[in-house]
Amino acid sequence: MEEVRKRLLQVQGRIDKALLKSGRSKSEVKLISVSKNHSLDKMEVVLEEGIIDFGESRVQELDDKYQSFSKEVNWHMIGHLQRNKVKYLARIPSCKLIHSVDSIRLAKEINKRANNEERVMNILVQVNTAQDDNKYGISYKEGVDFVKKVSALDNVKVKGLMTIAPYSSDPENVRPYFRKLKELSLEIKKEGIEGVEMKELSMGMSNDLEVAIEEGATLLRVGSGIFGERDYN
Ligand SMILES: *Cc1c(COP(=O)(O)O)cnc(C)c1O
Repeated sequence: MEEVRKRLLQVQGRIDKALLKSGRSKSEVKLISVSKNHSLDKMEVVLEEGIIDFGESRVQELDDKYQSFSKEVNWHMIGHLQRNKVKYLARIPSCKLIHSVDSIRLAKEINKRANNEERVMNILVQVNTAQDDNKYGISYKEGVDFVKKVSALDNVKVKGLMTIAPYSSDPENVRPYFRKLKELSLEIKKEGIEGVEMKELSMGMSNDLEVAIEEGATLLRVGSGIFGERDYN
């Protein structure tokens, strides 16, 4: 467990340094600890250090942890989301943000389930900035129209954009993708779409968080950097 605490402090040190370098303040960037495949005990350590945002990539795991974790935390759904799983998320009041909305059908399902629960669900639109066939997300070109369509749904609120950069051993290689996401968010902001905030940019993971901060990230999704390598067995 001390291992987790040590790693978290290291990650926070990296974040502070990147903030300093880019002249941004601590309050502009939130660290989401990605706890997929990691135990509640480890999450407890992270929580003790004051991190209250946790990201999961599968609905089942998020729901299980929500049911069994005795602490009040903010849950983030960051993985690909199937429409038949949306209802479970809608029933979790502390599921604060869905990062991975990539189709109108999915947005409509979230709207319907949120309406059933008499709530509004905050979402991010996932953008496939690298135009990678193996990755989910809408294209840059679709961005403005997509957000306009989603903005018409009463129980869904668009808070910003999310992207997953392709893995590269040199994080400098992914800078163009982060820059693209920021560009698109400015373009959408310019449209002045009613009810759309475009405040959040969810980008940057363990490997590339410095570059993401420099390019304007507001939400960092960090897993292995905090918890160590995931054990899928
Ligand atoms: C697992 C995951 C992360 C965390 O990745 P690390 O490299 O472990 O920091 C971030 N975002 C998404 C969507 C993920 O699935």
